[in-house]
Amino acid sequence: MRSASSPRLAKTTMTELGAMSAPAGGPDRPTESNGRLDPGREPGPAAEPEPEPAAPSLPVQEIGDVALADLLGGSGCPLCRLRADASGRYLDALLWEGVNDPGFRGRLAAGRGFCPTHAHGVLDADRAQTGGSLGAAILLAAAVRHRLVELRGVAAERSGRRRAALAAAAGPAACPVCEQVARARRAAISRLLARLDDPAWRATIAQAAFCLDDLLSLWAAADRRPSAGWSEVLEAQLERIADLVARLDAFAHHSSYDRRHLLTNGERRAPDDAALLLGGTATARGRG
Ligand SMILES: [Zn+2]
Ligand SMILES: [Zn+2]
Repeated sequence: MRSASSPRLAKTTMTELGAMSAPAGGPDRPTESNGRLDPGREPGPAAEPEPEPAAPSLPVQEIGDVALADLLGGSGCPLCRLRADASGRYLDALLWEGVNDPGFRGRLAAGRGFCPTHAHGVLDADRAQTGGSLGAAILLAAAVRHRLVELRGVAAERSGRRRAALAAAAGPAACPVCEQVARARRAAISRLLARLDDPAWRATIAQAAFCLDDLLSLWAAADRRPSAGWSEVLEAQLERIADLVARLDAFAHHSSYDRRHLLTNGERRAPDDAALLLGGTATARGRG
């Protein structure tokens, strides 16, 4: 057994991403200048992730533990950060490999394209990688073309059936990025619960700043898979939230002109911590 003192997230390859998320066609993605990959560029995601704070020293049993320790070692909610990391890596991989794969584009269209977040995400990722948007345009075109056919179908319906056709057209897309992120999240939650038997992991998970949605998901999974270590984690998480309520109250109490000198740093941080608890860590709203 070794220790994960400063692990980095393993890069996701398309091979790891599963059937819907496995476009073939290699890394010869087009650019806007010449329609082909610039030969001077390395295939693969363009930007390395920002260095994260040092991860806690946790015993590693499997390679997946390294990425998990990395998430727990960063700031904010580990599962929000996982969402942002997983969607960012998948969007990068899509742009390198999915753009030139007609089979993938067909599956993307059949699933009706991307969710609202990842429609923007694919464009942002392309601009960040290449400074352009041709790859995103090719993927988005597959989705928009399909949606246009749907809309024309709605327009052609008689008024009695139009309501149902409109409801179907308003339904969410089977976004391949969301699908991949959900898979990564389920795997991470399962691994977090499996590591509760270890005291070092349990203590680290107990102190992690989960947002409310992710804490509830973890709790629901723990309920389905009873673990002796979960009650300790839950107690610590509830204490963390109780401490936040106390800090919010103290922040309000100490915010009057004559009491400002009593404000502590923890109290000043309380409104931000409350927003993170209820709204998740900001990275999840970026490319999450
Ligand atoms: Zn979260
Ligand atoms: Zn999505």
